[in-house]
Amino acid sequence: MSREVRVRFAPSPTGALHIGGVRTALYNYLFAKKMGGKFLLRIEDTDQNRFVPGAEDYIRESLEWLGISPEESPWNPGDCGPYRQSERKPMYMQYALDLIKNGHAYYAFDTPEELDAMRDRLTAARVVSPQYDSITRTQMRNSLTLPEDEVKQLLESGAHYVIRIKIPRKEEVRLHDMIRGWVMVHSSTLDDKVLMKSDGMPTYHLANIVDDHLMRITHVIRGEEWLPSAPLHVLLYRYLGWEATMPEFAHLPLLLKPDGNGKLSKRDGDKLGFPVFPINWADPTTGETASGFREQGYLPDAFLNFLAFLGWNPGDHRELFSLEELVEAFSIERIGKSGTQFDVAKAKWYNEQYLRAKSNSELAGFVIADAAAEDVEIRQEKAEAIVAFIKERATFTADLWRESKFMVIAPTSFDAETASKKWSSDPVKVLTNYAKSITGFTGTYDAVTAKSMLEASAVAEGIKLGKTMQAVRLAITGMGVGPDLMEVFAILGTKEVASRIEYALATLEVVG
Ligand code: GLU
Repeated sequence: MSREVRVRFAPSPTGALHIGGVRTALYNYLFAKKMGGKFLLRIEDTDQNRFVPGAEDYIRESLEWLGISPEESPWNPGDCGPYRQSERKPMYMQYALDLIKNGHAYYAFDTPEELDAMRDRLTAARVVSPQYDSITRTQMRNSLTLPEDEVKQLLESGAHYVIRIKIPRKEEVRLHDMIRGWVMVHSSTLDDKVLMKSDGMPTYHLANIVDDHLMRITHVIRGEEWLPSAPLHVLLYRYLGWEATMPEFAHLPLLLKPDGNGKLSKRDGDKLGFPVFPINWADPTTGETASGFREQGYLPDAFLNFLAFLGWNPGDHRELFSLEELVEAFSIERIGKSGTQFDVAKAKWYNEQYLRAKSNSELAGFVIADAAAEDVEIRQEKAEAIVAFIKERATFTADLWRESKFMVIAPTSFDAETASKKWSSDPVKVLTNYAKSITGFTGTYDAVTAKSMLEASAVAEGIKLGKTMQAVRLAITGMGVGPDLMEVFAILGTKEVASRIEYALATLEVVG
């Protein structure tokens, strides 16, 4: 009988969730849905020194924003709880003791000074990476080297100890990765990692394996940075007697900086002018702030689509996928091995596509809300007309109001450079004539009519319209450049156009 697919996203609450972490969550989600399985979230908070308040809420809010919430999590527990490792603390020791009993782990009593001395000794002997391993352990103070009664007495007296895994000296550790194929590591390169710390907390390695087993995880999909730990994890499954149900591994490729030089780091974001976090983050301990995709105006579905393509592709030329379509098309086999460059232009492109695909009536809501925030009231109908006009020029929803504001609020100031170069007697004559001709006009004032009436005014004054157009734009919008002016005239209507012309005529000084 095949097991139900269960995958987990297992972040540590040490700060804001980096975009790479969000991608890991997304791939886990897509795989679970594709396989008709479950997506879990487990908080890995065994390292109390690195705990940052607010980080867990941040993770939750980010996933909720994207609509990829887990089915089992600390805030929505299933039958495998608790879902925070700190709350599972009493569960781990028994497994560490089992490992000691079957000879695959041992107590180590070395003090920090003794560990330092060991490293110094090995460094002096030109050992490249000094570590507590199958050779070093024979010279240290642990239950493999000390007499049994001394070990017993140390434990009874409450001496500080850690529990370490006993890595075999000469063994080929093989593991299969769904993305990379077979990976082989020789055990002599591995160190005797600590499994239980002296404070009674498990380390990441032990807790991760115990929890994946108890939570019936079938596939571990995580970042490439965990690949070096995977051989150790395979040994733990073996030594705990869980090899038959060991999850399959898939280690995701790194996200690289936009120039391809190195890993995209948390610090790159605001430095390079784009976010690397899903939502805004204010670190309560350092006071540092970082901007998020949500607050920069990205739509969640556009961001998800962009994220899915950072390392995966459907194998054809299609690029636009809804979350449901991603689920349908997703497969681990189509995840690449090599790192993927982060490309913010592509993120913007996705946002533009999703923005344009939205109906004018839906987008009108953003215009109405943004305008209301500036105490400007706009009716739905007008907002929709504005949206229809500005949509193709907008990347973010905030652009809709920012770029169209001038159509609602009459200019009270004018671009100085354009004014000083273009506001001559010719446009003044054309505009004076035009204001008169549209006052009382009762026909349909669309872009074509607005334009032909303007041409008629120019002809009546014996002036070439083309030469005055920038000044006309200045009078109506206050700016020297902008979108199709005749469309603007039509949206504003005759009354508003006439009143703006009058204000400009009364305010601007004629040059030349
Ligand atoms: N807690 C680890 C992290 O923060 C999880 C690694 C894993 O998925 O095994 O990335």
